[in-house]
Amino acid sequence: MVTQPVFRFAPSSNGALHLGHALSAMLNARMARAAGGRFLLRIEDIDPERCTPALEAAIYEDLRWLGLDWEEPVRRQSEHLAEYEDVLKKLVREELVYPAFMSRGDIRDHIAQAGERAGNWPRDPDGVPLYPPVDRRLSNRERRRRIEAGAPFAWRLDVEAALARVARPLAWTEFADERLAAASPVEARPQDWGDVVIARKDVPTSYHLAVVLDDALQDVTHVVRGRDLFHATSVQRLLQALLGLPEPAYHHHRLVEGPDGRKLSKSARDAGLSALRAAGRTPDQIARMIGLDPEE
Ligand code: GLU
Repeated sequence: MVTQPVFRFAPSSNGALHLGHALSAMLNARMARAAGGRFLLRIEDIDPERCTPALEAAIYEDLRWLGLDWEEPVRRQSEHLAEYEDVLKKLVREELVYPAFMSRGDIRDHIAQAGERAGNWPRDPDGVPLYPPVDRRLSNRERRRRIEAGAPFAWRLDVEAALARVARPLAWTEFADERLAAASPVEARPQDWGDVVIARKDVPTSYHLAVVLDDALQDVTHVVRGRDLFHATSVQRLLQALLGLPEPAYHHHRLVEGPDGRKLSKSARDAGLSALRAAGRTPDQIARMIGLDPEE
């Protein structure tokens, strides 16, 4: 059976799209076209506080203005929380996740009390201190006691236990560029992230869990996204292996820099697509601004 390549652009509807998103979306659409594949749009809206219907509508408007077309219906993650929860329950049953009770303040206090200078505490690839191994060591009895007492908690992956369950070495396939000519294996190092959140306090999933389940459910064969998510792939590859999900290939593309040479953020208003449109820029000009040939 010949499988058709499937590409996706998966923005979070918690802010306005900027030039960096335009690059991701246009690359995915162009690569899908070049490969005779499908192009999907997925709305990652698991954060009930920051994701709004108005921001989602603005995403469609910006993408249509750029000239993009995608398959309908669009998958909206907030409509599938029960599916993520089923998988979470399986991970709970298999004792691969544990309830994590520490707040940010608790983590800070723990690190300080551990007598470490904060700088010595191990940090993840984003520079955030790793979650202390305190809750991982709690007895089941103590966990139950706290949960019954109403203590808020997230579910975190026991990364050591998870790594012990999967075949090693763990790696993913990374394409060097958007022509998909040459690929090489990259070692996945989920341990560098420590025990990541698999389900947040308020929703029965997290970015990592939802993204791997959706990529599998939607038969995504190529994940093309910015280099800022390169290291996140380590965690996602581990989850795929744990859950027996198919393994897409990856290409982490260059990032669009702001005028100050720094990564664009959702607050980079001058690089926002709607602001550029209001200022009279055309979609062709946007393509040139992000280094793409408008004719392609
Ligand atoms: N929703 C994520 C973001 O907007 C991207 C997810 C992905 O491409 O894997 O940063």
